[in-house]
Amino acid sequence: MNTTGMTMGRRAFCGGLAVFGASAALAGCSAPTKQNESAGGETAETDIVVLGSGLAGSACALAAAQGGARVTIVEKSPSLGISFLTSKGNVSICQTVENEEFWQFVPEIPDTMDDFVARYDKVTKTGARDVAYPDYNRVRALMGASCETINWVEQIGVDFTQSFTKEQVGTDTVKPDMAATNEPDKAPGLFVFECMKKALEENGVEILLEHEATTLVSEEGSIVGVEVLDGSKTKQIHAKAIVLATGGFGGSEEYLDELVPSVKSVGFQYLGNALNTGDGISMAKTVGAACYEDGWVIPFNVMPCKKLTDANPDFKRLCDMPMSGAPIEGGDVKSKLLVDAAGERFINEASPAIAQVTAMADHDAAPYYVLFDASNADVAAMLDEAADGESVVKADTVEALAEAAGTPALVASYEAYRDAAAAGADEAFGKPAEAFASYQESGPYYLVSYVPSYVATMGGVKTDADCRVVDESEAPIEGLYAIGEIAHRFMYNRSFVRHCSNSSALSMGRILGTSLAAE
Ligand SMILES: Cc1cc2nc3c(=O)[nH]c(=O)nc-3n(C[C@H](O)[C@H](O)[C@H](O)COP(=O)(O)OP(=O)(O)OC[C@H]3O[C@@H](n4cnc5c(N)ncnc54)[C@H](O)[C@@H]3O)c2cc1C
Repeated sequence: MNTTGMTMGRRAFCGGLAVFGASAALAGCSAPTKQNESAGGETAETDIVVLGSGLAGSACALAAAQGGARVTIVEKSPSLGISFLTSKGNVSICQTVENEEFWQFVPEIPDTMDDFVARYDKVTKTGARDVAYPDYNRVRALMGASCETINWVEQIGVDFTQSFTKEQVGTDTVKPDMAATNEPDKAPGLFVFECMKKALEENGVEILLEHEATTLVSEEGSIVGVEVLDGSKTKQIHAKAIVLATGGFGGSEEYLDELVPSVKSVGFQYLGNALNTGDGISMAKTVGAACYEDGWVIPFNVMPCKKLTDANPDFKRLCDMPMSGAPIEGGDVKSKLLVDAAGERFINEASPAIAQVTAMADHDAAPYYVLFDASNADVAAMLDEAADGESVVKADTVEALAEAAGTPALVASYEAYRDAAAAGADEAFGKPAEAFASYQESGPYYLVSYVPSYVATMGGVKTDADCRVVDESEAPIEGLYAIGEIAHRFMYNRSFVRHCSNSSALSMGRILGTSLAAE
């Protein structure tokens, strides 16, 4: 490795940075590692390079720097933690009798670790597939460390408070206590990353924003560095450990087609970071990493199709749990009739979002429609404006609607739905009596195209319990690690256990960073 030559100046290193919106405060550039220019181009040298600055990458970088390592973060976007900035900041924790010293709040009935696993297993098996995960040894280790991780994050100035109990969402959950800060209205995710940035800088972590990791550098089978694109310039950073923390593949059509084809066939909307294009997966594959073949997504909700939300952003609030803003009154879709392309009902519409999204993907009979009437004048006005005979179909009667939309079973589904509502018993799908909408006796009626949405993915590279990336023979690839969403497939069977992605990303990062620094 050639490390002689010219030192690169700080100005050149920071050149071309642009920042935007809420993340402006998180843009920045700290003192670079030693820079050199060799015959092959610029090179730098450090102890650990972390690719990606989400919860996983930032936690890893901070823990490693706290342990005395020289650390560089390479981040493609202009901001630290870009995927998390608008987040409500919920993080699941596992409070068991075994880790009482780290509890965040006193649970009404404490779990044992076995209780926790039983509850977790029930949630993640919604729509279960025949796969070998969750890997409960790793779930136990990571979730068992979650309270300690939250205590560690609190040391950088984020106080957490209880947000959900395990009885509500499957795991005890905490979120940043914004009421205890000077800026209670700030997005919790942004606040976390402001504290994180300060801590990273105080611990001397070099942060390279708008730098895209492109290629791993290997030497005799070991990973010894990474090639990074800075605008049009390429440079190499050599290190003893390269940590892939580049998130999922929700922004990559190619990976989605390969790993989750229903995203295209059902028309899922992606609400996550468009920069998460599976770059770390691609880099790891080129050096022989084994990857999961069965991908899936972390669902968010069921919402109007992209054509509608693109034309009128208010459509994003025509669902029970919008990404931002309040639901539009009259848009309580969980009470309404949801049908498939044939007009058949196929699920209890009041099911949790994860079950709905899974059913829509597995049923694979898009387009899906929600039936509206004109009882809410504001909603009807939105639908009238959007009616195009495709994403919003309008007619005076349900019979005419079925004809216009080409959904022949709609009339029978509608009648059965009304009968079940009147009887207070939904034998077909088990929707509770109080959750049924009561439709008006006269039209107009509308069929509105609804799709599942997702915020993150499951799939990516395989790792061992020490977060080392492994090859097809399960042997670790020396010098290469992966944490967070790029590697968290082992945490789930099918369904996401709410807020465990944030939790496992933080814990994987903290634990790996600490151990790399100690090596
Ligand atoms: C809107 C939204 C809501 C969510 N809600 C929840 C929730 O309630 N609970 C929960 O547990 N999880 C939630 N998630 C998912 C969760 O935020 C992530 O899965 C988790 O935080 C994983 O973090 P990560 O660090 O692995 O990935 P990320 O935070 O996505 O970080 C990856 C980073 O890598 C960068 N990157 C990508 N490619 C490159 C490259 N080539 N070079 C350099 N940098 C690169 C990206 O720009 C990004 O900053 C949500 C996600 C979104 C987007």
